[in-house]
This record gives sequence, C-alpha cells and structure tokens, in this order.
Amino acid sequence: MRTLTFRRPDDWHVHFRDGAAMRAVVPYTTRAFGRAIVMPNLTPPVTTTALAAAYRERIRAAVPEGMTFTPLMTAYLTDGSDPTDIVSGFGDGVLTAVKLYPAHATTNSQFGVTSMAAVAKVLAAMEKAGMPLLVHGEVTRTEVDVFDREARFVEEVLAPLLADFPALKIVLEHVTTAEGVAIVRENASRMAGTMTPQHLLFDRNEIFRGGIRPHMYCLPILKRSTHKQALRAAATSGESCFFLGTDTAPHLRHLKENACGCAGVFSAPTAIEAYLKVFAEENALDRFEAFASLNGPAFYGLPANDERVTWVEQPRLVAEAVEVEGQGEIVSLFAGETVGWSPATA
Ligand SMILES: [Zn+2]
Repeated sequence: MRTLTFRRPDDWHVHFRDGAAMRAVVPYTTRAFGRAIVMPNLTPPVTTTALAAAYRERIRAAVPEGMTFTPLMTAYLTDGSDPTDIVSGFGDGVLTAVKLYPAHATTNSQFGVTSMAAVAKVLAAMEKAGMPLLVHGEVTRTEVDVFDREARFVEEVLAPLLADFPALKIVLEHVTTAEGVAIVRENASRMAGTMTPQHLLFDRNEIFRGGIRPHMYCLPILKRSTHKQALRAAATSGESCFFLGTDTAPHLRHLKENACGCAGVFSAPTAIEAYLKVFAEENALDRFEAFASLNGPAFYGLPANDERVTWVEQPRLVAEAVEVEGQGEIVSLFAGETVGWSPATA
C-alpha cells in the first residue's frame, strides 16, 4: 500500500455557484485544498471588484469552522469592463485574475466578450499590472464542430492575443487538446494550462459508454484518446506550466439528467483521488506535488502552502450524491463507485 505526502494542494479553477448550492459544495473543496481560484460566472456574473468582494464574503461564510481556506477571486470580463476598477481590484488584493469567456461558450457565458478588440484597453492595463487573464479557450461559432472548438480558438484567438500583448500572463483553462498543450509549452515563460480530472481520465467515448451519460458532459467536451494522452504526458512531466484546476462545476441532478442537460462535472469530492489515479497509472507519483501544489502558486507569484497532507492507496466508497438544501442533489465524479486513494487519518 503506497502512501504519498505532499504540500497541501490548491485548485486553480472552481465553480462554487451561490446560495444553498455554494454552501453544499464549498466544504468538499476546503477539505482537500488550501486555496482556489473561484470562477465568476454567477447569474448575474461577478464583473466588478465590489461584486467579487461581496462574493468572497459569502464564500468565507460557507467555509466549515476550523478549516483554513483562501478563496482567490476573479472578475468576469465583459465588453463593458472598466480597466481602472479591474486593476485597482488586483492592486487591493481583492481580485487575483480576470476570466475571459467567449460569448455563449458555457454556463452563464451569454455576458461574455464578443471580440478581443472590445476588451483591448482592459487587457493592456492588466498586462502593465502583471494581472493574469484566465481563458475559456473555445470559439463559439455554430459552424465549428464542438470537438474542434479549442483547437480553432488556439489558432484564431489565442495566438493573435499572445502576439498583441507580449507580456500578458495567460492561463489556458481546462486544456483538452494536443494543440492547447503545445501553445502553453511554447509560451511557458508567461503562460500556463490547467487540467481537469475528467480530461486526464477519459476520452470522448466515456460520454456514450453503454448509453448516454449526462454526468460526463462538460465544456470543453471530452476529446479523442490521442488528446488525452498528450494531456497526461504534460500533466505528469513536471513542467512548471501545467497545474491542477478541477473545473468542478456542480449542477443539480435534474438539470444534468435532462433532455437538454447542463455542461459540467462536479469533481470536488473526488478530485485528488482522480488525479492520483492518473499519476499512479503513469508511474509519476513523484511529480504529483509539482502539478498539485507547486506549479500553480509559482505562476501566480504566491508561496506554496506550508502544511503537508498524506494520502494512502486505500479503497474508499464514494457517496451517491451531495444534498443541496431545498433544491435536490448533485452527482459527483465517481459517485457510488470505489476510488483507490483516501486521505490518511491523523
Ligand atoms: Zn470552468
């Protein structure tokens, strides 16, 4: 039975939602992670420093007593974002980054950016301030095949963006393709990529294994096996430009198991288990700490967490669902299944 001790990890991409759903899911992230980048796609979205500060207070109130956890806030970039507000929010320590959603790319992205020209002033101000831009990297034109949307974004939007803002720090969030891996690597001096458990574990066949599986539907969508292999090689390489970001995205069961189901995998309750499975399969457990606990803070200019945690290769049965008070339940990654790793009990 293997054990692994590493610095407490951080999750560089989470969706906490708000209200009762937020109170139900926050404890799963705080149990495993010291900090998390909190995505701003509420309805309405978190677009200003003041809205981010208020949301941060609501999250802090949902952190279970006795847990130490730091939510790192982001602002949702819109055509109307005010450069002064964004950069002063960064300077004041309220905002850590800005999130770019191309309009209509995913949950609550109808407010997203319509063209990069519309946000050039904000991006220039962020570049000057050293404030990272976090990118949902998919084009959204209906004629582009859903499996090609990231590769097309890399070519049509990301490459020009890198050229136009040569010092802007950029994270390509939830990298899902070999093309995404390549552009991150080529620009590693000021660029990084986060990777989700589901894109490292599964290829697109998983969505249709034995029937349609709505809980495996997320955006960007799962890709071909060749892309999964490229992601696994990158994640386990130890390269500092790749790090953990679960993109844990809770939706109520009835909104997933639906004729037009929502996109998102709720991975917070089993994220470390999932990533450890990947690293164990790739014989790369010695590089897990870099991916989970060191590379992210280094990119964001933050210290790594001091606390050490230990995980044991010991099977654990995962609950069927997480209850949301008065609303229903949320089904997590590996719900009702047995995972191979467990936190060591003190
Ligand atoms: Zn996301």
